[in-house]
Amino acid sequence: MKAMRLSKAQPIEQSPLELVDLPAPIPGPGEVRLQVEACGVCRTDLHIIEGDLPLPRLPLVPGHQIVGLVDQIGEGVTRFGKGDRLGIPWLYSTCGQCAFCQRDQENLCDAARFTGYHMDGGYAELVVAPETFVYPLPTGLSPAQAAPLLCAGVIGFRALRQSKIRPGERLGLYGFGGSAHIAIQVAVHWGCEVFVFTRSEEHRALARELGAHWTGRAEDDPPGRLDSAVIFAPVGRLVLEALRVLAKGGIIALAGITMTPIPELDYSLLYQERTVRSVANSTRQDVIDLLKLASDIPIRIEVQTFPLDQANRALLLLKQSRLRAASVLTVS
Ligand SMILES: [Zn+2]
Ligand SMILES: [Zn+2]
Repeated sequence: MKAMRLSKAQPIEQSPLELVDLPAPIPGPGEVRLQVEACGVCRTDLHIIEGDLPLPRLPLVPGHQIVGLVDQIGEGVTRFGKGDRLGIPWLYSTCGQCAFCQRDQENLCDAARFTGYHMDGGYAELVVAPETFVYPLPTGLSPAQAAPLLCAGVIGFRALRQSKIRPGERLGLYGFGGSAHIAIQVAVHWGCEVFVFTRSEEHRALARELGAHWTGRAEDDPPGRLDSAVIFAPVGRLVLEALRVLAKGGIIALAGITMTPIPELDYSLLYQERTVRSVANSTRQDVIDLLKLASDIPIRIEVQTFPLDQANRALLLLKQSRLRAASVLTVS
């Protein structure tokens, strides 16, 4: 099978992913093999490829927003059969036994494995995953449109949940890429007033199209205070900007896997029971709930597609913030 593989972490400007021909993976007991149709490109892929995250293995095929058709099943697989269209997200497997798994926080599992990180991912023609960690997809979305739901969508959704935003409340979103443009649709569906902060005029226009109540830059003052906020852009200074306009008792959820340092802050910004929390990975229930919402709303997904062998270019455009929304590799 063809795959775009990383053998050494390097800046994306060096085009570190190489098109290679690899033996087809064989599904083990309880696993399904998908013939990949589309795989979303995520900022985490960029962090993996550039070595911002410690790499558990090399060489590695990245990609963790995978949509494909089952073409082979391993021994004992009962849930799915050949031809089923399924999605594979970032959470590849958990131990089921640690304290976190036991208390509904499997996203924090001590022995979690992640797709396209511990295991080869979807920048390839074929991929294998456990049947208990793959998901049927909403009908009505093409494979390329469904792919960004699997990480960008799910992480944004978990961040909304962790921000404890309630229907009718005022929500701030900082940064407006692939994740935020899905999250805003969920928040609007919940009846929230959404305030979007982003440098890009193009992103502000898209946010208004998707139902933003107000748009501006992080330094701007929205009319009134926000009940909760989610920060998508990996920029620590935004924590201070968001605290500046957050109501008493409000929560800021940080959706990124990395962030530049958060500057020193005056305690008065945090006082009055304001909370800043991070969001890590997601649970299987998060994926199931988001996919259900995606078909109920229905969520509209803006994608820009690239052929598999253009993965380096798609990632470079992501790094340069030159994408209008989510980018997706179309594989077959
Ligand atoms: Zn565990
Ligand atoms: Zn991701």
